[in-house]
Amino acid sequence: MSQRISRRELLRVLGVSGLSAGLGGALAGDSAWADEPRPSSGFTGSVVKDKVLQSTATCPVLVNGEVIQPQRKLSLLDSTDVLVVGGGPAGVAAAIAAKRAGAEVTLVERYNHFGGLWTGGLVLIVIGHMVEGPKQVCMGIGEEMMRRLEKCEGGIMNRGSGLNPTVDAEALKYVMLDMIQEAGVKVFLHCWGVDAVMDGQAVCGAVFESKSGRQAILAKNVVDATGDGDLFAAAGAEFEHRTYNIGLVSRIGNLDKVDPALAKQSPKPRGLGSPTPIPGVNWVNMLGPESDGLDVAELSRLEMSHRQFIWKNMQKLRNTPGYEKVTLLETGPQLGVRITRALAGTQTLTHEHIRTGARFPDVVAVGGFTKPAGAEWHIPYGTLLPKTIDNVLASGRCISAALRTADSIRLIPVCFATGHAAGVAAAVAAKDGCRPRDVEVPKVQRILKEQEAYLG
Ligand SMILES: Cc1cc2nc3c(=O)[nH]c(=O)nc-3n(C[C@H](O)[C@H](O)[C@H](O)COP(=O)(O)OP(=O)(O)OC[C@H]3O[C@@H](n4cnc5c(N)ncnc54)[C@H](O)[C@@H]3O)c2cc1C
Repeated sequence: MSQRISRRELLRVLGVSGLSAGLGGALAGDSAWADEPRPSSGFTGSVVKDKVLQSTATCPVLVNGEVIQPQRKLSLLDSTDVLVVGGGPAGVAAAIAAKRAGAEVTLVERYNHFGGLWTGGLVLIVIGHMVEGPKQVCMGIGEEMMRRLEKCEGGIMNRGSGLNPTVDAEALKYVMLDMIQEAGVKVFLHCWGVDAVMDGQAVCGAVFESKSGRQAILAKNVVDATGDGDLFAAAGAEFEHRTYNIGLVSRIGNLDKVDPALAKQSPKPRGLGSPTPIPGVNWVNMLGPESDGLDVAELSRLEMSHRQFIWKNMQKLRNTPGYEKVTLLETGPQLGVRITRALAGTQTLTHEHIRTGARFPDVVAVGGFTKPAGAEWHIPYGTLLPKTIDNVLASGRCISAALRTADSIRLIPVCFATGHAAGVAAAVAAKDGCRPRDVEVPKVQRILKEQEAYLG
């Protein structure tokens, strides 16, 4: 039988009178404590509305064993020129670029921070922004982020010629937020893009799920920066569904406390990762098995098995002489999904294009490798454009590119370059009152160059 006890009694039983302020705050809303005087905990709370009953009129219903969603009107969360869905390297660059090009911009992200796999996935190393030594091919807004990181203590390392810089995820989250706010981009976090709003063959907004319910944002143009093409797929644009390796990145610490004399006695353990800007902290990449990043059961299975693997591996490491103090700092808050959907665009980048360093008159971004052999390659505008659906542009790792090019186009600098291009093109189309497929590409190229993008 349950029995009510007073707060004072509870604290006495717990023997934690010193905790009374904090605990009091946490318990203050409980009905059991409703009549008690409020402690001076610093917490405050109010009843916004009492006796709330949400309408169930639009709840899905079971009809002959099938779940049916009734028709319903959605409330409008916002209305804008350019809606960017996804706040990874591509989405952040797209949003800032579109705003700087003079459009009203709203950026929506499902998680609580910007950076996508670059920060939330703990993929900290930026590969491919240099070619053959000092020549840098990925410039523009992404490069601006890296310059700002240089001003943050411990924000970035290896910025030298021919190197692949490594960033600190928290510093980068801060820098991206700063840049988004400075640009004046409107932001909604904790909002999951779940559908496209259509007007015939043209996208005119997107639908989002959040704690506020299911709401729509209307827009002249939408940039799909979800990495997975969630929006262009929902709009009916053709795509290729792909499987690829899915891993989970982690960070380990106390590597500066490894005892070198003891460590010398056994072979160097595997899985020590690569240095980060924080002394004694490494990030550890994981290839993982080829799998389907659009299958939620598979994502759940991999998330759990990767976590168990990382934990057990850490215990093994700590049992290695000299490595007893090494700790697991964190596993990536975001699973390492590399490739899922690729748009079938009006142009498709092929391995041959990259291998031969092909040049296109409608170049809107340039990718590169640190090593030579076709080191610099053009990305044409058509790789961002669906074949038939209008007013939506792809950006980042889901642009139209052959499977064999995946390891080139998904690199972080390439993603911020294609995001940059999609943002400018979406803004130009919105301002000129035309479809993205009809924009004057030389105008897009001119604005990209004004925004310090490199176009070869
Ligand atoms: C394990 C691993 C290792 C890698 N190693 C490297 C490396 O060493 N160097 C390198 O340069 N690159 C590396 N990459 C690749 C690189 O990290 C990604 O390709 C790049 O971050 C993709 O950028 P993006 O903006 O296209 O997508 P993402 O980084 O995936 O960002 C997409 C954003 O959209 C949000 N989003 C997704 N769906 C929705 C939705 N429906 N509604 C709202 N928001 C949504 C996500 O939360 C995320 O913030 C690696 C990737 C992985 C997984």
